[in-house]
Amino acid sequence: MDFQSAEKKAKDLQNLLNQYSYEYHVLDQPSVPDAEYDRLLRELIEIEEQFPELQTPDSPTLRVGGEILTMFNKVQHAIPMLSLGNAFGEQDLRDFDRRVRQGVGDNVSYVCELKIDGLAVSLIYEDGMFVRGATRGDGTTGEDISSNLRTIRSLPIRLKEPVSLEVRGEAFMPKKSFEALNKARKEREEEPFANPRNAAAGSLRQLDPKIAASRNLDVFLYGIANIGDTGIDSHSEGLDFLERLGFKTNKERRKVADIEGVIEYVNGWVEKRPNLPYDIDGIVIKVDSLDQQAELGTTAKSPRWAIAYKFPAEEVVTTLKDIELSVGRTGVVTPTAILEPVQVAGTTVGRASLHNEDLIREKDIKIGDKVVVKKAGDIIPEVVNVLAEQRTGDEVEFQMPTHCPECESELVRIEGEVALRCINPKCPAQIREGLIHFVSRDAMNIDGLGERVVSQLFAEKLIKDVADIYKLTREQLLALERMGEKSVNNLLSAIETSKANSLEKLMFGLGIRLVGAKAAKTLAQEFGTMDQLMQASRDELTAINEIGDKMADSVVTYFDSDEVKELISELKAVGVNLEYKGPRKVSVEDSDSFFAGKTVVLTGKLEQLSRNEAKEKIEALGGNVAGSVSKKTDLVIAGEDAGSKLTKAESLGIEVWNEERMLEELNK
Ligand code: NAD
Repeated sequence: MDFQSAEKKAKDLQNLLNQYSYEYHVLDQPSVPDAEYDRLLRELIEIEEQFPELQTPDSPTLRVGGEILTMFNKVQHAIPMLSLGNAFGEQDLRDFDRRVRQGVGDNVSYVCELKIDGLAVSLIYEDGMFVRGATRGDGTTGEDISSNLRTIRSLPIRLKEPVSLEVRGEAFMPKKSFEALNKARKEREEEPFANPRNAAAGSLRQLDPKIAASRNLDVFLYGIANIGDTGIDSHSEGLDFLERLGFKTNKERRKVADIEGVIEYVNGWVEKRPNLPYDIDGIVIKVDSLDQQAELGTTAKSPRWAIAYKFPAEEVVTTLKDIELSVGRTGVVTPTAILEPVQVAGTTVGRASLHNEDLIREKDIKIGDKVVVKKAGDIIPEVVNVLAEQRTGDEVEFQMPTHCPECESELVRIEGEVALRCINPKCPAQIREGLIHFVSRDAMNIDGLGERVVSQLFAEKLIKDVADIYKLTREQLLALERMGEKSVNNLLSAIETSKANSLEKLMFGLGIRLVGAKAAKTLAQEFGTMDQLMQASRDELTAINEIGDKMADSVVTYFDSDEVKELISELKAVGVNLEYKGPRKVSVEDSDSFFAGKTVVLTGKLEQLSRNEAKEKIEALGGNVAGSVSKKTDLVIAGEDAGSKLTKAESLGIEVWNEERMLEELNK
């Protein structure tokens, strides 16, 4: 980079960072994730390293924290409250260790502590009494928030020893309090806090201490500013001392012998972190010996004897390169963001669903935008928002197409729906997605027929509809790319096995509109066979509890089609089972079985059926199977070695059958 462009870039970065810092530290309302702030800051550091004359005294690279509000009295920190240098990976930690050992020799042990995500506070005690508490502010000047800090129950007002000292720690809001607070705010239609840190900072910046008191804050103390003549010569002893005085310290701290110990500690917390009752954004590593700390000293911004390891970011910023469209099984056209690949919470993310056009408009997403990405529920990547202030002017408005990207027929927006749909039943994308659905786990569950193979078979015109799957030959499969003898054998046998599936799997697999896996099961259970189902009238369908008008219409319309009738007879011809194999639901009135409405108890060992099978069959005929014999029992089925239940039945004069008699009745 030449000087001129570096100068311009540095100026832009400084302005942006100052704006973000103000929003974060003063307004408690960050507009970008921390990872983005950190990234821009690193960019500025690099430029300033290359061109030191660009580092102005007010550069964000030299500043600690933010401006000081005038709401509270200002306080001067006798000993500055510094920030910490950051480490973003193992290499940064090793570099830190190398710098430390260059300074003080190889005999260094470290203390690892959780980096609580709250805000730094300084507490002053005189003769054991709490006299003043302040925020960090810009590091030298903070705000006096004593009356708010007094409301924190774990903060001792009187210490166990009458000492005078300044201690430092982190005030924070536990996750539970945060969730409760945001829930209440949403109910009152107030803006929720972005995260517990901002909620804690916002709470301690309230002029009315009653508000702070209601927010359930907490505080961990992690350091003594003026160790004086306490006789303490290491950080770990200092923490133990704080604990003896009655302060709350964090128990997860650990002293380790070297950088390997640090790395092990850090790695251990990556996974355990979500289980903590409070947020942490990293691990703080400090040189334990106070003499060594003094020898290493500080820079203008942070101590050289400590570093903050930052966990992989859960919200990051990346560029949205393009928006791709895909047509689903039901014809819905879904836009997907194609992202410049980034690491989010440890995995690489390159795509994120944008769901529909409304969402793109709502979030004002343009192609070329810088966007914030996170993993929702920590699995599915999601575009959170756009960083409009980072636009260059080259971004392009996205136009939703008017025609299907696969079959070019006109797209329609069905009333009451946000989605655009392709309604061409011959649309190849829909057919392909329908085939993928048919073989999926909850449907026909054909192992080895994944998205890739199905797409391939479809592209080669080897399958046009679901019945074709059952006509595939060994030769056809062997001719496919990446298909060996063994996979073909496995696939053929998986296809064969699927023929025997119970009706509900097929029903679901057909992809009838509105019929999900659960409804498919209900329908199969009620009607028993495909033939019965195909003849079912709208009234018969809606008579079933779980089936509503819309679903009934959808089922009737589906089976009304000649193509569907044709397809079903083809499936039948290739040997696909069209019957429900589980227990059927039959109402007492509809059942002419002996078991209808009767309470039956099974006891002893049955030979032909398991107890469970017998139970299912009896229930399917409208009977109830109970666990114990009482006056309400109508019938007891006694197998081999029947015991007390049989005796009781006999004493109550209840009818008793053997297994054979039961089977005779079941098979009627
Ligand atoms: P820092 O968060 O990197 O680390 C220093 C702070 O760590 C200390 O002041 C202290 O409060 C805290 N801490 C927690 N546990 C500790 C422990 N055991 N020992 C010592 N300190 C402990 O640096 P910073 O200067 O406080 O703030 C910078 C942070 O603010 C960065 O994380 C940055 O991403 C964020 N920030 C974000 C935005 C934004 O717009 N999103 C803007 C500005 C700053």
